[in-house]
Parts: sequence; C-alpha cells; structure tokens
Amino acid sequence: MSDVVNFKCPACGAPISYKGESGGLACDYCGSSFDMEQVKAAEAAEKVSAESSDMTWTEPDQELITDEDGKIEGFLCPSCGAEIIADESLGATECPYCGNKAVVPHAFDGMYRPDVMIPFKLNKERAQAAMKNFYKGKKLLPNGFADGNRLKEIQGVYVPFWLMSCEAEGNASFEGIKTETRESGKKRYIKEKHYLIHRRGKMQFNRIPADGSKAMDDEYMDGLEPYDYSGLVQYDDAYFSGYLANRYDVSAEEVQNRINVRVENSVTSELMRTATGYDSVNVKDSALRYNSNKTEYAMLPVWMLTTKFQNEKYSFAMNGQTGKISGKLPIDMGKYWKYLILALLICFIVGQVLIGFFAGSDGFSMLTELVVFAVSAFVGWAYAGSLKKAMSTAETATEAGKYLDTKTFKVMERSDTFMYEKNRVEDISDGK
Ligand SMILES: [Zn+2]
Ligand SMILES: [Zn+2]
Repeated sequence: MSDVVNFKCPACGAPISYKGESGGLACDYCGSSFDMEQVKAAEAAEKVSAESSDMTWTEPDQELITDEDGKIEGFLCPSCGAEIIADESLGATECPYCGNKAVVPHAFDGMYRPDVMIPFKLNKERAQAAMKNFYKGKKLLPNGFADGNRLKEIQGVYVPFWLMSCEAEGNASFEGIKTETRESGKKRYIKEKHYLIHRRGKMQFNRIPADGSKAMDDEYMDGLEPYDYSGLVQYDDAYFSGYLANRYDVSAEEVQNRINVRVENSVTSELMRTATGYDSVNVKDSALRYNSNKTEYAMLPVWMLTTKFQNEKYSFAMNGQTGKISGKLPIDMGKYWKYLILALLICFIVGQVLIGFFAGSDGFSMLTELVVFAVSAFVGWAYAGSLKKAMSTAETATEAGKYLDTKTFKVMERSDTFMYEKNRVEDISDGK
C-alpha cells in the first residue's frame, strides 16, 4: 500500500487519513478506526464506483430481401408513419397501429430478413374470442364500449423485434445492516452493525425482446411478454401469407438502452440476493460490462385492434402465440365512484356490527366512528384502485429476470466486511 491513502470514512463520510503507527486508518472526524481488512474492503468498493460500465453491442448482420424488381410492395400510414408490408391477398385496409383508413400504397426498398420468427398460433376467431373475454369482468368499462368494439377489424401483424442475448458481468458494492434490539425498562437499545459487501458475478441472458416499431408504444409490446421461444422457427416468407408485416423503423442500436437498463437491474438484484444474513441491504455502486453479446432480428405475431370510443382512440395488442393482451381500456369515472362508495359503506356497516358485537353500546364513540370511517374509506379507495388497475395491462418492463439462464450465474468474487457499529436509544415509555 502506498503512503498516501484517501478514503471516505465508511461511518461518517469524512475524508480519512493514513495513520502509519497503528497499521490502519482512523477518522479524525468521528473517531472510528479501521484495520487493513476493512481498508481493503473500502478500497474494493471505491474501485466499483470508479469503474465505468461498458455495455456495447455488436452489430447484427442483415440481409435485404426484395422482389425481382428490387422493391417490395406494401403501404404506408401517413398518420403514424408505420411501414407495412401486406400480402397481396389482403390489400391495404387500415393502419393496424392507429386505425387510420387513408393508408397509401408504397413500394419499399426491400425488407431485412429476420433471423428467426414465431408463427401465429391463435387464428382470427380465437383472437376475437380472447378479446371479448378481456372486456368481461372489467367493472369500470363504460357501457357500450364492448358493443362498438369493431372486433372484426382485428389484424394480424408480424411485429419486428430485436432479441438480445448477452453474458453480463456485474461488479457491485452494497451496504448490509444487521440490527440487534434489546429492551430494558422504558428504553429500547438498537445496535446496527454496518457491513461493506462486494460481489462480482457473471450470468447469461437469452433473447430479451425489444420491439423495433415506432408506431407501437413500448409499454404495449413489453406487456405482451413472455413469448414461448420453443416456438421459434427459421424465417420463411410462407408464414406471412394472410398477415401484415411491419418493417422495423427502430434500429437495434436505438433499443440498446432499454435492454441495458433491464439487464443492469437484474444483474444488480441477482448479486444482491447473494448477500444474505442481513436485515437490510442497499446498493452503493454497480458497474456492468458485457463479455459477449448477440442481437437477432425476429418477427413476432401480434393481433392488433384499434378502436374509437367517445372520440378517444384505444389500441389493444394480443400476443399471437399465447393470447396475452396488452392494452388500456377506458374508465367510467361514475362507476369508479360508485364502487368506491359501495365498498366504503359495506365496510363501515360491518365495522358498526363488529363494534356492537365486541364492545357493546359502550364501544360507540366519536373516535371509534372516525377510525372505522377512515379504514372504510381506505378499503373503498383500495378496492376501486384495484378495479382501475385491471383496466390497463400495458406496462414498461424494468428487469430481465425471465431471460436469465440461472444455471450460468457464477459469483466470482465475494467479501463481507464488518465496518462499524451505530447505537441508538429509543424511548418506549408511551407503550410503542
Ligand atoms: Zn468518520
Ligand atoms: Zn397508422
């Protein structure tokens, strides 16, 4: 170790100085001192925070496919910009993404050959039935919405996706706390032991999907996950017959950030899960790099339905392989309040019965009534909120755990070092 060492004190954050004579470090500010093992742990943690992440992806190889005349026929939606390749038998009807009927024929300079694809498994009838089922039991759905839902206009589209695989190596530091509590008389003594935890580990993620379609909201496509990859086949244009296909207009490079965020969150949480035996663990720093990676271009089957209700546009997407639906239904706020008040009232009445049963007539007071009302209002709010949440199934994906091959997860470095202790005393005289 060199003579000059600069650290932040793990206990108080003050700059810390090297004290040669004691063979360790001492903090002039808070008086904590640290031995060599602790100094090394702090050094490893500093290294993590100085290390920068390197998440560069290799470019996918791409091959353009065209007709004999060097073009490929389809249509363009002037409203949302979607570039759709249509099977001749289908013709251009309306844009599957935004419902615009004024689509124009368009000859494209070919389309890139997908590496893999999943063929449609659910036909139009089953897609329509699943959609109808989706409306069912949705208590806040406005009357009349399901009647005018244009189910016959549902369209099957092969949506372009980037499937991204990588071996990710994460280096992370955490703070772990073990808490011991002891009560004596009217005092509670809390002892917190703080540990510096360091983990380096690697793991393989396979085929995390990100859609390559600008016209489609990312959260809608994330909401369709997961696809069953055992259904992946080599690309064959015979599968396109009877369906639309969307040319990608979001490049592999443009989706890399979405994927990086998901991988980073998953790697950090996997490493964190190996820090066991603590009452709480917090991330201090993390850095990530890819040891290897691969991007594949895929076409995945999606049934699309765009519908208008009271001048608002609603889009629904259904996984054409599994039937999972992603979309946002309109909410009837009148119904929302009706269910909220109904749940509140039921809970309030039950509360009265319970008070009468357990406490008799003495139980009724201003205070208990207020408490029961507050609890009832909360129940009503939570119930109506859960009904509201069921109206939307589109959600942005924030992690990639589904795509982690857990067998490949290896912890390469690990250390758990006790750093310092903090003591607190709480007054418990008021019976807390
Ligand atoms: Zn200190
Ligand atoms: Zn459109």
